Amino acid sequence: MNALLRARGLHKSFGPTPALRGVDVAVEAGEVVAVTGPSGSGKSTLLHCLAGILTPDAGQVSFDGRRVDLMPDRRRSQLRRGTFGFVFQFGQLVPELPVLENVALPLLLAGRGRRAALAAARAWLPRLGLDGLGDRLPGEIAGGQGQRAAIARALVGGPRIVFADEPTGSLDSVAGDQVMELLVEVARAERTAVLVVTHEARVAAYADRRIKVRDGVLAHPVAVP
Ligand code: ADP
Repeated sequence: MNALLRARGLHKSFGPTPALRGVDVAVEAGEVVAVTGPSGSGKSTLLHCLAGILTPDAGQVSFDGRRVDLMPDRRRSQLRRGTFGFVFQFGQLVPELPVLENVALPLLLAGRGRRAALAAARAWLPRLGLDGLGDRLPGEIAGGQGQRAAIARALVGGPRIVFADEPTGSLDSVAGDQVMELLVEVARAERTAVLVVTHEARVAAYADRRIKVRDGVLAHPVAVP
């Protein structure tokens, strides 16, 4: 099986606190997977290990056949910048930059010329229901609009997988549903895999498949070949 992202036997502790105690995961290209479980169960730690933000104490993470956990920092950050997209709970838009520039940021950081980057970003706004909001500052738009801008920013560089950590956690359920609908719709259109961490069943319902984490292990482990 050619999983896009594969992890085997992940262990991670913070001092004496075990966060992951042997987790196996595989995500196929274009698949939308929800990681669910109560607060403190290890969901974010799992996402951070899979995305190369944290190095596991034991176990392996492979992306497209390459060992992420063994990569030098520089290559891992290249992967995070170019091949992975990220959406966090509080959007983390740069408050001083208008929405359009926030969306263009990954392209600007990757060295794309300013005009081309802004043009590419502009094309994403209508896809996420953000027409006419490109010149606003993040503080001047609603929370759901900010999260949709964060999704546009995550997708603008054409990532192969988007990691979303409680992307609706700061939103009411109407705005949250809209964010999830657009994230899943656009990711499907782009054939981008999505791994979304959530403790909300209504958010997990948008995924093709759910992985339940409990006390650092999967509730229903599956064999990862
Ligand atoms: P979840 O995302 O399911 O809420 P986390 O992965 O954030 O769970 O946390 C799992 C466990 O690891 C918890 O006991 C948490 O307190 C602990 N933990 C997570 N991150 C850290 C950290 N940076 N330092 C110390 N403990 C941490």
